[in-house]
Amino acid sequence: MPRKKKQSNLDEEIQKQAEEALKAEEDAKKEKKRQIELRKFLIPTLRRASYRWKPRTECNKDARVERGVYECAMCNGHFKNKEIVIDHVDPVVDVEKGWVDWNEFVDRMFCEQEGFQVLCKTCHGVKTNLEEKMRVKFRKDKKEKKKNGN
Ligand SMILES: [Zn+2]
Repeated sequence: MPRKKKQSNLDEEIQKQAEEALKAEEDAKKEKKRQIELRKFLIPTLRRASYRWKPRTECNKDARVERGVYECAMCNGHFKNKEIVIDHVDPVVDVEKGWVDWNEFVDRMFCEQEGFQVLCKTCHGVKTNLEEKMRVKFRKDKKEKKKNGN
């Protein structure tokens, strides 16, 4: 009889541990979902706030060649206000590292004036496409590495 009782205690313990593992897995999933929602909400909010970031507005001022006309840092062409974009020289999310954390994101989003440049929409488009291609490449490389167990 005592042996049987011991066995059932063991079963109970195993079941308890299995339930705990399942719960931990569910909690991790929930937390991951919350993190994604938070990013979706906070990134555009911080981006909008950065439009009032002084180093950014200073960069805009410095690129002004005359009233309502700005010089593109890449092609040196002159463009109207609506034809320019204030760009992060180093993309806010590093193309190679991808997302790191909020500290890194905020540091890069709210950088010094040297970290900003005025680009015409054409040059900005070219730069953004290139960055996106690099992102895809690095993501693919990372996946390959993981698959090969490195
Ligand atoms: Zn340009």
